[in-house]
Amino acid sequence: MCERQVSRRPNTLMNTNARDGMPIQIEDDLWLLDTLHQGEPGVIASYLITGKAGLGLVDVGPTATMSQLLTSIKVAGYDPLDIEHLVLTHIHLDHAGAAGALANVLPHARVYVHRIGAPHLLDPAKLLASAKRIYGADMQMLWGTIEPVPEERLVVVEEGSELRVGERTLRALYTPGHAVHHVAYFDPERNTVFAGDVAGVRLDKGNTVRPPTPPPDLSLEDWSASIDRLLDMDLVALYLAHFGKFADVAEHLSLLRERLDVWGQVMLAGMRKGESTEQLAGRLAAGMQREVDEMADVNRTQMLRQYELASNNMMSALGYVRYFTKYHPELLAIEDNGAE
Ligand SMILES: [Zn+2]
Repeated sequence: MCERQVSRRPNTLMNTNARDGMPIQIEDDLWLLDTLHQGEPGVIASYLITGKAGLGLVDVGPTATMSQLLTSIKVAGYDPLDIEHLVLTHIHLDHAGAAGALANVLPHARVYVHRIGAPHLLDPAKLLASAKRIYGADMQMLWGTIEPVPEERLVVVEEGSELRVGERTLRALYTPGHAVHHVAYFDPERNTVFAGDVAGVRLDKGNTVRPPTPPPDLSLEDWSASIDRLLDMDLVALYLAHFGKFADVAEHLSLLRERLDVWGQVMLAGMRKGESTEQLAGRLAAGMQREVDEMADVNRTQMLRQYELASNNMMSALGYVRYFTKYHPELLAIEDNGAE
């Protein structure tokens, strides 16, 4: 498996701070907030946008870290009660889990989500049931209580919808592949994108790109088209939910696509041999281990844990299994010729 890193250079944008968990002002009107997911810094971000059209958060993390999120807003110098916009890239629990609970404590906040994701925020029963099947007894510890978003607080977005948040205009880009209801938010004035998960996972100190490929929506064709779309825009920066701001956009997105494809070949080869999902996840984990082993100047044990939290290998393997089984059963029937 290819384990090329994006760059050996440290990330010059300096997302992280010596004091883990502290909010970081990355632009005049933009703060990177760290939710400290499972106590780990640098795994799940929320972005605070400030300015006249009302405070906004892009992605909000799970309910389990809501108090850390609210504390971060205060530490950054703002009153959480002034939050008016909760802008969601997609409904996965690491991005939107806290949306309902936040709507209940922030009286002026509206929740923005793509049309296909909206029903699951209004009634999270189905989302919860599938998450419980996957996470079992760890559900509460990982994500906390998932509350519905009241209907009058929900704003449905579509491709091209424009929102005014702080001083910014954000335009929704329908970017499926990781999730069928995924939107990224383009800031035309700055030529940047709040990418959610469509631009993958790249932890600040780790500096390598990994695609999170969970079930049930993974589509390599859609994701690749979404990556093409972002590449064509000549963006000057991506704001990743996992984790931070990165300016080498073309290099980053090209490596993401390569990874998606190479992992697909690796998963397919394993599936043709009849490997279990544990074995398939083990292949992804071994690749991750090799990458982390090559990293300099990082706490490797912590880095592995952070990547695992941001892009769980078992989930990623399950995503590929579902994708190939559902959309490309013909590929599974081809006899394995040993290619990996
Ligand atoms: Zn995510």
